[in-house]
Amino acid sequence: MPAADDLCRFVDASPSPFHAVATAAAALDAAGWSRTDERDAWPASGGRGYVVRGGSLVAWDDTAATGPADPFRIVGAHTDSPNLRLKQHHDRRFEGTDVLALEPYGGPLLTTWLDRDLGIAGRVVLRDGSERLVHVDEPVLRVPNLAIHLDRDAAGAPDRQRHLDAVWSQRGTPFLAWLGERQGFAAEDVLGHELMTTDVVPSGRVGADGWLVAAPRLDNQATCFAGLAAFLASATSGSGPVPGRRSVLVLFDHEEVGSSSERGAASDLLLTVLERIVLAAGGARDDLHRAVAGSICASGDMAHATHPNHAERHEPLHHVVLGGGPVLKVNQNLRYATDAVGAAVFARACESVGVPLQRYVHRADLPCGSTIGPISAARTGITTVDFGAPQLAMHSARETMAAADVEHYVKALTAFFELAD
Ligand code: ZN
Repeated sequence: MPAADDLCRFVDASPSPFHAVATAAAALDAAGWSRTDERDAWPASGGRGYVVRGGSLVAWDDTAATGPADPFRIVGAHTDSPNLRLKQHHDRRFEGTDVLALEPYGGPLLTTWLDRDLGIAGRVVLRDGSERLVHVDEPVLRVPNLAIHLDRDAAGAPDRQRHLDAVWSQRGTPFLAWLGERQGFAAEDVLGHELMTTDVVPSGRVGADGWLVAAPRLDNQATCFAGLAAFLASATSGSGPVPGRRSVLVLFDHEEVGSSSERGAASDLLLTVLERIVLAAGGARDDLHRAVAGSICASGDMAHATHPNHAERHEPLHHVVLGGGPVLKVNQNLRYATDAVGAAVFARACESVGVPLQRYVHRADLPCGSTIGPISAARTGITTVDFGAPQLAMHSARETMAAADVEHYVKALTAFFELAD
């Protein structure tokens, strides 16, 4: 299962959204894509390029376009995952121990972050305006559980405000000074930071015959990985991109906290890039609207495999099997954007390469999660289909999926890019 092992490498190289984007950018660079700065004039011939906005990235392949109004075929995913992040005033000392103040980002399964070896990753912005990626891949942080003898009533989930600080040292050194020493900057120069804890245990294969992948951030780096692999494979395979169509890969930050930011799915990022591609091809505003009207977006985010210990939490007619292939997500109240048109396109892509497709409906009496699909669809007006790969323990510090599904996922998304209309 080489795809599953490639996924493990992708995840381990991507401890934060900023790193996920850098990992994707490095793969695009190696394949001949050129980076465009949004502040610069757009390259006259669209060709193959990408832009980065913080923890988000949009890449395109315009080489098979025949006119400015040609439609886009888009695969979308999100780069962020729930975790524990550094507070602004994060240094505190307790009985001779240095304690680091943390708070949750999004909705992590809090208990899974306790008693775990944690490193730190993210970015800092220095006084001179420069930005540094930070990654300490060492077990320096630990958020300890409370002993059962001190918690006889087993109060359960930790409190988001009071129970998530990490012990890390007895030096009496400010954390940023320690970090700067390792990463080559002075603590007093750090004027802004987005720093988060990361599980330092490498991703790997578990279960008999290694049929499972155990890794942090599968939600949603598994889709970032598969989308990128499919985007590159479809662009460089024998047949190349479908004539008269453009391929786009969009990786959004901030899905786990609602997508409303300058770089989230609710931002102008995707639409702005699509518009600039059309304008660079000599098109006018009406060509953009024509292109968008003919486009389709496959929005990938992980799906819940039916849990063997909690089958009653799942819709009985829609059990999802690990290793059973990608999962089409449908929700009548539009927590997922899938409509019949998008469902049919995605089902046809899977069918064309013999990948099995599973269909997911959430229990009607439980609140359903959501994803970038409905938000991006509302922002762009593009027909969107939501789907995912099956996994267990979504939002755990350590998630699980079937290695076979990584292969299925890449194959299905490659077919989505390559399938003729
Ligand atoms: Zn997700």
